[in-house]
Amino acid sequence: MSKNKVQFQAGYSLIDLFHNYGTENQCVEALFKWRWPLGFKCSECGGDKYCFLKTRRLYQCNKCHHQTSLISGTIFEQTKLPLTTWFLAIYLVTQSKTGLSALALKREIGVSYNTAWSMKHKIMQVMKERDDSKPLSGVIQLDDVYWGGERHGGKRGRGSKNKVPFVAAVSLNEEGHPITMNMNVVKGFRLSEISRWAKEHLQPESTVISDGLPCFSAVGDADCYHVSIVTGGGFQSVTKKEFAWVNTMIGNVKNAITGTYHAINPKHLPRYLAEFCYRHNRRFQLENMIPRFGYVAVRTPPMPGRLLKLAEAYG
Ligand SMILES: [Zn+2]
Repeated sequence: MSKNKVQFQAGYSLIDLFHNYGTENQCVEALFKWRWPLGFKCSECGGDKYCFLKTRRLYQCNKCHHQTSLISGTIFEQTKLPLTTWFLAIYLVTQSKTGLSALALKREIGVSYNTAWSMKHKIMQVMKERDDSKPLSGVIQLDDVYWGGERHGGKRGRGSKNKVPFVAAVSLNEEGHPITMNMNVVKGFRLSEISRWAKEHLQPESTVISDGLPCFSAVGDADCYHVSIVTGGGFQSVTKKEFAWVNTMIGNVKNAITGTYHAINPKHLPRYLAEFCYRHNRRFQLENMIPRFGYVAVRTPPMPGRLLKLAEAYG
């Protein structure tokens, strides 16, 4: 789990990317394989025979004649960009160590700022949906955080207005090292909201360690064991070893987001948090990042620009 293990892993270079996904055909073949791993399957009738309509690039079912494109119903739906541009964007966003702003992405791949912004948010949406579908298990450190809140010194931020509350959770292995983390915006730190969050994001029978905030006892609704460690509050409380990892991660995510983006629209915070967690959770799997991402991307529903710009649903 050392830094070196991350730095000296085989990795996946830009040359590897161009070798594997440098042409439109290679990208089409890859998407086809991720979308239909067992061969073409019609979404309407389940038929497995098709013909490819070359001029419109559509796959037509031989049985019911339903037509579909490779990207319809996926996060890539209606894109006019070459798939090679998408793959490069996915590579840059998933492999970058500290995150990549839409402005930086625009410069790297040569599209307009609006296009880069929308691609970036669609990629982050895939990351979010992926990690939201994997509940944490084992021993989990949990903490309540406010985006924009002061952490050290002064008021801790609980109950402050104009701040976005989120739950930070880190699962640990037997040696007490962090395995997976998840950060989700919540409506507030109430029993009902934490109960809803816990049922979605925690495996039953996990052990959850939190401070004395009363709402965290609601993890019991998700059949988890709850250990509450009462702290004195203030700076001292965040240095306790029971919370060391979750607090490190909270510090890291805040630094990463403000360092890369300077200011973000708080309504998009859920995606920025998900992006950070996704990369962290896969820091030892750089080599497989593109196929793993691609498999999920073709299963992530389209996200029209209008929806992307709306406030994110709570996760
Ligand atoms: Zn069919």
